[in-house]
Amino acid sequence: MTCMYTQRLITSFINDELSLSELDKFIHHVKACDECYEELEVYFTLLTAMKQLDEEQNLSNDYRLELKNKIYYSEEKIVNKRIHKIRKIIMFCMIVLFTSTIISFKNGVISKEAKGVHSKTISEYNLKYEYKSNKYINRELEYNNYLNVLFDNKN
Ligand SMILES: [Zn+2]
Repeated sequence: MTCMYTQRLITSFINDELSLSELDKFIHHVKACDECYEELEVYFTLLTAMKQLDEEQNLSNDYRLELKNKIYYSEEKIVNKRIHKIRKIIMFCMIVLFTSTIISFKNGVISKEAKGVHSKTISEYNLKYEYKSNKYINRELEYNNYLNVLFDNKN
């Protein structure tokens, strides 16, 4: 983030209007750049004092400390949101794993039922192949029976 861009975000930072990634980059820059930090301090003091006057609150005695606190809480917010995101991803992975385990278990049970004795999961190809070869065996038996009947009749 450049100094110009950072300084353009100062008001949004003070009004809590930055997105999480913007906030992250903003704080990262401000902590490393004295010029931008000073600029932030000036704006923070001005805007916060104006807001306090507007809302008829007591004026703060230490705007520097307030700014430091605001930065500290913003950093905490970023960390918490990241942990929350990681937790969500882990939960999602666990759900996917759980669902796929259930699905593969169910498929195993279904093909077990289809085959009767087989305990392994049978692929679709194997099922088709077995079906076809069974069909041919049946045809061959039918043909042999037919021939037998023919020969029996001739004898
Ligand atoms: Zn800067």
